[in-house]
Order: sequence, then C-alpha cells, then structure tokens
Amino acid sequence: MTTAPHLACLSVLPTDEDPGRVWALGALAHLQVGVLVVNHTGEIVFVNEWFLKRCGRSGASVLGHKITEVFPQLIGSYFSRRLALSQSTGLPAMLSHSLHAPPLPLYMPHLVGHPQAVLSQTVHIIPLGHSAGSSPHKPLTLIQVTDVTPTVRRESLLRTRVDQMHHMARLDSLTGIGNRREFSETLDSELRAAIRNRAPLGLLMIDIDHFKNYNDHYGHPAGDRCLRDVAELLRKVVRRPRDRLARYGGEEFAVLLPATPLEGVIEVGREVVERVRKLGLQHEASPLGPVVTVSVGATSVQPKAPEESTYLVRLADEALYAAKGAGRNRLCWVNAADEVPVAQAQA
Ligand code: GH3
Ligand code: MG
Ligand code: MG
Repeated sequence: MTTAPHLACLSVLPTDEDPGRVWALGALAHLQVGVLVVNHTGEIVFVNEWFLKRCGRSGASVLGHKITEVFPQLIGSYFSRRLALSQSTGLPAMLSHSLHAPPLPLYMPHLVGHPQAVLSQTVHIIPLGHSAGSSPHKPLTLIQVTDVTPTVRRESLLRTRVDQMHHMARLDSLTGIGNRREFSETLDSELRAAIRNRAPLGLLMIDIDHFKNYNDHYGHPAGDRCLRDVAELLRKVVRRPRDRLARYGGEEFAVLLPATPLEGVIEVGREVVERVRKLGLQHEASPLGPVVTVSVGATSVQPKAPEESTYLVRLADEALYAAKGAGRNRLCWVNAADEVPVAQAQA
C-alpha cells in the first residue's frame, strides 16, 4: 500500500530535503493560523507550531496519531462528518464561527485548558491532491484554523453598544422614562396584542396644569426638576409589569394600560390626580392653588384594527381637553361606546 509520508513539523524537519520543500514547510510552520494535515485514514501527518501551542501538545504526541485519538471530543462531531465528506468527495468545506461552536479544543496560548479561553474559530477543510489521479500517494486533507476571537469580541462589543443606543434612543433624557418614540412602538405592539386577545386597551393622558406659569415663576431648571418629580411619582402609580409610562411631550405624560377596561383606567387616573396633588410640589403661580396639579384624560377601547391607535389617542386627548375645560386638577374620561366626555368633579 502506498501512503503519503509524514511531512513532519518544523521541529523535526530534516535538513537534507530539497530547498523548495524545506522553504514551504518552514512557511507553513510559521503561519499565524493553525495548520493540520491528515491523511486518508485521519492520521495527522503535519502540524504547525501555532496549532501545537494552542492545544498544549508536543509534535511527537500528535504526529502519526489519528485526529480523533488526539482529540476524542471530535468523535461524532459535525467537524468529523464534514472532514469525512471532504475526504471522500474532494470538496472543500468551511465551518464559520458564527454558525458553529468552536470545533477544536484550541485555547489562548497561556491559558490552555481553561474553558473561558477557548478560541473562536473559523475552520477551512481543504482536500489536497484529490484531482491528481495519477499521484502515487493517497490524498491528504489540510485543516486550517483561524483564530477569530478578537473579531468575535469586537462584534459582541458593537452589538452591545448598538443595543444600548437602541435603548437610549427610546428613553427621555430628562426623566429617564420612555419617550414618544417608545410610546408609539409600545402602542402599536399592545394594540396588536389587544386585537389578538380581544382585550381592552386603556390609555391615560396626563398634563401638568399651568406649567408655563411654573417655568415663568421658578425658572426653567426648576421646571425640569418638577417634571422629574412628577415622572418619579407616576412610576410608582404605574405598577403592573405591562403598563407603560412615557413622556409624550413637554409637560405631558401617557400611560398605556393593556387589558384594562374603562373602570380600571379611571381608577388609575384618579390615583394620578390625587397623588400628584398630595405630592405637594409648590406652585405659587398656579391659579388653582399653591401646589402642582395635573389634568388627566382616560379612555379604553376594544380595538379591532391596528389603525385604531390614533382613535385611542384621540379619545384620551378629548378627555384631557375636557378635564382642562372643566377647571383642571381633575380626571375626565371618554367611553368609546358613546364618545361623550364625562368629567369627574375636582377630587
Ligand atoms: P395648561 O394647564 O393648559 O396645560 O397650561 P400649561 O401652561 O401647562 O400649558 P402650555 O402648553 O401653555 O405650556 C406648557 C409649558 O411646558 C411651556 C413649556 O415651556 C413647558 N415645558 C415643556 N417642556 C419642558 C421641559 O422640558 N422643561 C421645562 N422646564 N419646561 C417645559
Ligand atoms: Mg400643561
Ligand atoms: Mg401640554
């Protein structure tokens, strides 16, 4: 039987070889990628220094042994199946790090054996000499391993940053609650959920009374602090995990209350009016009295089509407008059935 000779690794490279072969083996040995060559029976006939350093083995313990003896974890693995396929068909294969767990037990050189130090790998399986039918040697297969750990780390860092930016773009920088964009997205998804589940979707629109006077009297930075305090209080009132509070704009807030019929929305709205007043934030410039108050519009609809998001917002806005018209510092609601605003007397 004719088999390919061991090519040997650099450390055992014979010096009397022809110069071209010596040069080629030397180059392979110094490549900054892992190179492993196996013969048709899976026996390792060449391994370079890069590879040995990262698996913590000596050339002698690897050369002449079957790849699955040296790395038993490869038995039955996807890598082994691809290798067998390439050996039988002569077709190359690539195992990308993004689709496959690291196939070979290779580690950072100073941390061999540490599970956290396993290298992310892109592996090329390259059949050699399969087309040379007249060759006296059985074909060999070259396995090239590229360490893509730095790339994977960079990708993961970038992904984290993108996620952070995505999150930040939906937050109101002053109050830390969701902004109008976040509200719109949540409204769309909750509306679809409400249609699917045939559930009501409630909405509160909350607007600080005479806030322009507040700014004029106390100054804009104090106005900002007031907005933060009101947002903080609203956070406490909006308790259920799916309820969503957002700064709708300026001194206006919105609260989306999934699966909540009008009675439930009214209850939360009433609590908002009372608790903001009881917070006792000084507002000497308000015609309503010495503290900050809010007007609230409430509604709830049982949506049947996604376009009803504008309808829901319109009804809550009408209710808010009615609350302002009725004297502020109160809740007003609109029942979707008759669309006539009902005002609650000042609490
Ligand atoms: P109403 O009771 O009818 O709601 O009267 P209002 O004065 O609250 O309403 P108006 O719309 O006339 O004024 C809203 C004020 O809110 C004017 C604007 O300067 C202030 N405002 C909006 N956004 C901010 C903000 O981010 N910080 C501060 N400090 N003020 C803001
Ligand atoms: Mg206002
Ligand atoms: Mg307003």
